[in-house]
Amino acid sequence: MSVRKPPLNKANLMLQQEAIDAVRGQTLAPRGHFIDGRSIASDSGDVLDIISPIDGAILTSVAAGSKADMDRAITSARSAFEDGRWSKMAPAQRKKILIKLAELIERDALELAVLGVRDNGTEINMAYKAESLSAAGTFRYYGEAIDKIYGQIAPTANSVLGLIHHAPVGVVGAIVPWNFPLMIGSWKIAPALAAGNSIVLKPAESASLSLLHLAKLASEAGVPDGVFNVVTGKGSVVGEAMGLSMDVDVLVFTGSGATGRRLLEYSARSNLKRCYLELGGKSPNIIFNDAPDLAQAAKVSAAGIFRNSGQVCVAGSRLLVQEDIHDDFVAEMSRHAKDFKVGNPLDLSSQIGAVHSLSELEANLQFVQTAQEEGAQCVAGGKRILSETGGYYMAPTVMSGVKVEDNLHQNEVFGPVLAVTPFKDEADAIRIANSTVYGLSAGVWTSNLSRAHRMIEEIKSGVIHVNTYGGSDLTVPLGGVKQSGNGHDKSLHAMDKYFDLKSAWIQL
Ligand code: ADP
Repeated sequence: MSVRKPPLNKANLMLQQEAIDAVRGQTLAPRGHFIDGRSIASDSGDVLDIISPIDGAILTSVAAGSKADMDRAITSARSAFEDGRWSKMAPAQRKKILIKLAELIERDALELAVLGVRDNGTEINMAYKAESLSAAGTFRYYGEAIDKIYGQIAPTANSVLGLIHHAPVGVVGAIVPWNFPLMIGSWKIAPALAAGNSIVLKPAESASLSLLHLAKLASEAGVPDGVFNVVTGKGSVVGEAMGLSMDVDVLVFTGSGATGRRLLEYSARSNLKRCYLELGGKSPNIIFNDAPDLAQAAKVSAAGIFRNSGQVCVAGSRLLVQEDIHDDFVAEMSRHAKDFKVGNPLDLSSQIGAVHSLSELEANLQFVQTAQEEGAQCVAGGKRILSETGGYYMAPTVMSGVKVEDNLHQNEVFGPVLAVTPFKDEADAIRIANSTVYGLSAGVWTSNLSRAHRMIEEIKSGVIHVNTYGGSDLTVPLGGVKQSGNGHDKSLHAMDKYFDLKSAWIQL
């Protein structure tokens, strides 16, 4: 019997430098919004220049959206929702379209990854997998889920039937950041569309290119006009207009705590739209002296803070090390930090790419300076490098002797800066781990199974890793506690945000 082999597509192939080189220098035309199935310029005609962090040069421009642009996109999403062109389409048909979209993302995986790297600076290897391939996987996953979601019949008393329906909420507004725009965007867009909603997406002003391309692919896959719209521009203009809209039903967001607070305010001042916020982190990564393999712990922990220049919300940015292994472990971490090859993110030989913008780079360096003023020692990195390229690169940085009350311990850097703090015993580790306002991710390295379970219970975070760091499978939810936010992306739990529960009573 002959077995039919699946056709080869780019997703099955190893990333090749020649393939990257063929597209890395392409001239990029200015981009408009994507509203009602087509690309349109801003109402005002204004544009925002996009600066590439690779070399500091202007890459292209995107429409600098106005309130009128956002209102137009919301109106388009609303009418698409109300006439049922997507919300009432048979689930099996919606499923077909989302799976087709996954295939188109795979077809364009390299172009999408390169586009994203050119405006945000993530190393291409990571962008290809974590952006393009993960986005394709996300659309496939939620596409597959559409026709497997059932309503419920409640166990009511008497002769009244209680039905529980999952109804799409209507218009979803999504605001996403510049790190992993395609991955984080897809975590929101795919389940929102799968549930039957229309969506208006606002990318970060400096990282819109791959998401604009995604919207075109959605149209090509058969998502009807008006169902998936993208409005580019400043958060303080189009983001605010979305937040204050009376016609957006749910707002989903990933970004800073400061913007998260504003969104809650906008909701309170408008229609009380539900807000799901995925905010920052200052995640503790705790190394006990009984860790099964300290060398492996150091290697994984270094990747867990330094990949993508530390611009990862779940980065293990606080390293807590038990006192008796502290000096050796910090030396090992510093060795890893110094060994990473930082460079042009479109070169496969670079293990770490660029910091996203000059202002981010300056903020990172300010954190290092303040930490030193507060008594910490810089044992690796601490400076800008490769400035002759014009790009924004920073050496992976290890700061030791950071105290709990220090700025670097309490506040998120969102850059390649690791804060190291020693601890005495388990109780001390828990106290230090829980000493910030954040609760997104954590890591624990120990051979003691009972201790691992106690730490899972005691550490206040939405995600915790034991003897690993950075688990990323789509089947497991991601979300924070405390001031790291609420609601979850990923897994079937993410669908809850995009449905209203509707109860129906029927007298029999
Ligand atoms: P970061 O520090 O990661 O840039 P931000 O919270 O500033 O985090 O940005 C995340 C997203 O929030 C971006 O798309 C940005 O444009 C948007 N944003 C920023 N300010 C506002 C605002 N006032 N209202 C709505 N969205 C905003």
